[in-house]
This record gives sequence, C-alpha cells and structure tokens, in this order.
Amino acid sequence: MDTTIAAIATPLAMGGVGMIRISGPESYEIAGKVFSPVSGKDVRQQKGYTALFGHIHDRGRTVDEAVALFFRAPHSYTGEDVVELSCHGGVAVLREVLRCVLDAGAVMAGPGEFSKRAVLGGKMTLTQAEGVMELISAKTRQGVAAALSAMDGRLYRTTSAIKQSLLEVAAQMAAYVDYPDEDIPDLEGQVLGKTLGLAEDRLAALLDSFDTGKMLQQGIETAIVGRPNVGKSTLMNLLAGCDKSIVTQIPGTTRDVVEEVVELGEVVLRLADTAGLRETDDPVERIGVERSVQKLDRAALILALFDYSTPLAGEDWELLEKIAGRPAVVVVNKTDLPCAIDLDELREKVPQVVLMQASSGQGLEELQQAIYTATALGHLDMDSGVLVGERQRQSAVQALAAVRGARQALQMGMTYDAVAVDIDAAVEALSELTGESASQQVIDTVFANFCVGK
Ligand code: GDP
Ligand code: ZN
Repeated sequence: MDTTIAAIATPLAMGGVGMIRISGPESYEIAGKVFSPVSGKDVRQQKGYTALFGHIHDRGRTVDEAVALFFRAPHSYTGEDVVELSCHGGVAVLREVLRCVLDAGAVMAGPGEFSKRAVLGGKMTLTQAEGVMELISAKTRQGVAAALSAMDGRLYRTTSAIKQSLLEVAAQMAAYVDYPDEDIPDLEGQVLGKTLGLAEDRLAALLDSFDTGKMLQQGIETAIVGRPNVGKSTLMNLLAGCDKSIVTQIPGTTRDVVEEVVELGEVVLRLADTAGLRETDDPVERIGVERSVQKLDRAALILALFDYSTPLAGEDWELLEKIAGRPAVVVVNKTDLPCAIDLDELREKVPQVVLMQASSGQGLEELQQAIYTATALGHLDMDSGVLVGERQRQSAVQALAAVRGARQALQMGMTYDAVAVDIDAAVEALSELTGESASQQVIDTVFANFCVGK
C-alpha cells in the first residue's frame, strides 16, 4: 500500500461532473503537480476536509477546471491521504485528467482497490465493503435497504455475536477439559446444547435473509401459470399497469414480450407470463412448453391461476402437484362468474388462496398480501443484517453445518474435545464471513468484482 493509486470514480458517461480519486502517500504531491488553485495556495500543505477551486494543467496547457477535495489520513474513505478532483463529466476530459495524474506518478487503481485499501487499513470490514458493492448495484428501494444493513455494520455485529457465543461455549468446554477437578460451575450439556441451538437458529435466519435479500435486490422471479384462458395475460396486464415506469428504471431488463418488471407495493416482481407461449401453434408450442417448465422450476414465486367458473380439471391437478411446497399463491380468477370450483380442495393443497377478478382489478390488495406471506417477505428482519453475495452465503452455510455437527456430537455424548472441533470450524467460517480471517485470495476475489474507482 505504499503506492498511490488513481481512477475515475464516476461512471464514464456524459455528465455535469466527473471525479478522479487519488489515494496513497503521494496523493497531495501528485495533486500539486497537476492542479493549480486560483488562490495560489500550496496544495501540499492543504488540511483535510477542505476544497480548492483551480485548474488541471498538462505541461502548461489547461485541461479542465476542477474543484479539489482534500482528505487527510486516516479521515478518508481509504484511510490514506486522498485527493478527489471533480472536473467536468465528459469521457474525453476525464481520461485526459486521469492521464495527467498517472503521468505525475500515480498508479492506475485496480477494481475495488480503494475499498480494498479501506478494508486492509481497518476503515471497514469485508462485509461492509460488500455492502458498498451491493448498494452500488442495487436496483430497487428494498435492495438499497438490504445493502445498507451490511454496509452500516448490522450484518457484522450479528455475525460477531454468533461467533462470540460459540467462543464462550468453546472456552467453557476447554476449561472443563483442562481442569476437571477445579471448582468450575457444572457444565450442563443442556445449556451448551441450548447455546448451540440458538446459534443454529440465528445462522439459519441469516441464510434465509440471503434469498430474501436477493429477491429484494433483483426483483422476485415470478411465473404466472395456469391452463389457457384462465386469465394469465389479463393478470399480467393488470400488474404491469400498476407501475409501468419501473420497467424503464431497471436497466438490463429483458423486454421480452412475455416479461415485465412491476412494482407491487413494497416488492418488485419480474413477471413471466410463461404459458402465454403455450397458446401459440405447434412447433413453437413445444418450445414454449419447455420454456414454461424451466421458468416454473426457476421461479422464486409462482402465481397459479384457476378459473372460478370451471371445475378443477386434470391439468389443474398436475399444476397443483408441481407447486406443492413451493412459494406459491393460488389465484382463483373470474369471481364475477358463477362458482363451479371447489375452493376447499384448493385450500387443502396450497395455503395462499386469493379470489380475484383480474379484469377489474378486484382482489389485488389481497394478492399483494398473499405474495408477502408466500415469499416470507413479511418476516424479513433487516435489523440483523442481510447476507449479500455468494461468498458470504458459502461461509454461513459452512458455519451452520459445523454448528449442527457440534450439536449432534453433543447429543451423541461425544467428548467435549470432539465437539470443540466442530465449534472451531464454525468460528473459523464466521471469521471468514466477516473477513477477519479471510485469506488474501478471498479478499482479492471479492474486490475483483468491484468496479474500478470504488
Ligand atoms: P390466458 O389465456 O390465461 O392468458 O387468459 P386471458 O388473460 O387471455 O383471458 C381469457 C379470457 O378471460 C379473456 O376473454 C378475458 O377477458 C377473460 N377474463 C380475464 N379475467 C377475467 C375476470 O376476472 N372475469 C371474467 N368474467 N373474465 C375474465
Ligand atoms: Zn394469455
């Protein structure tokens, strides 16, 4: 970390302002070479948390006007001396200014290198850095909230608390093993089991939060299924009509004819009217059916439609079998028509049954509520922090497996030494999660996924 790094920190696009961030021991020196404040002040003597207006120049030629912001170590994002040059936001001008800064002695920053320095310099934890990345890539309001719970340290505190409880169990067992004759309060296997059980529950809840966080971040992949003519397209249009603007707000949305991204209350649904494809003629139909099966398998939420005015048919039963045990809402449509369906039978199969009239929108609120319940969004506890990223999930999975192993060992009456092996493994996995004992390779991998300039 004795090099001074620089990168364009704002997106490379046309904009009012663009910013070059410089971090490292030579930041002030390098800024002094390329930036001249109109006040004539000496940049190298500048205090932290100050700003100067001036010009960027390249061997006597003015490149741009700029405002320079100064941060003194350790009071900066990276914890190092940092200078941020805010210039005009054109692609060419930003590249030009960056080139000047590199010519003056800075090294091009790698992906996420500023955040990596912040972690290595103790300014934030690995989980917080991952929260930063998640925040940048969040596309929904709820995704932002989940990212913040990692970024502001809630996730770190929860993980640390679990780890602490495991360390206490380990310490008690070690004391018992080492000094069996001393006056150590009786080690009740039950008490240990209880602590382990609590750790297990908290880890399981964290893992749940991963799936939920992902749903919130990207929108819930939702499949609308049901036999032809039950009203799938009508429901799709109704939902899409709730807030069409979201479609343009989320970049990279597949504007497939049968996919829509809609906001329903607090949640974002990525809707696929799968069986819309089924209704087309032959060769396409086969592909369509395959595609809807895939969609159905992959969906995080299934909206299964049935016709209120028609008795359940063979295809309906097949569908009910398929969605059993999955996060699903049964929508019984066309309630304006006379009833011919056995609702009790449906309710036996799937807990969430909503009656509605897709053509008029009646029942939409109930549908929204049922979606919350089916996806467990209603139970999401962001106060404990939300796991973000596959790396964190992997560590949590390992920790959970180890805690379960420890509990089993304890129940089977194995020696405390044997139980301790599993507890150690759990503690190790949690330390990796928070980054306290993450290897250099893990850290490098995490930051390789960051964008340059963050
Ligand atoms: P899909 O084949 O499942 O996509 O069904 P559609 O959405 O194309 O609807 C089939 C027919 O049912 C259309 O004529 C709709 O107007 C009608 N429909 C949809 N929802 C309702 C409803 O709530 N009540 C009544 N009476 N008709 C509906
Ligand atoms: Zn349709």
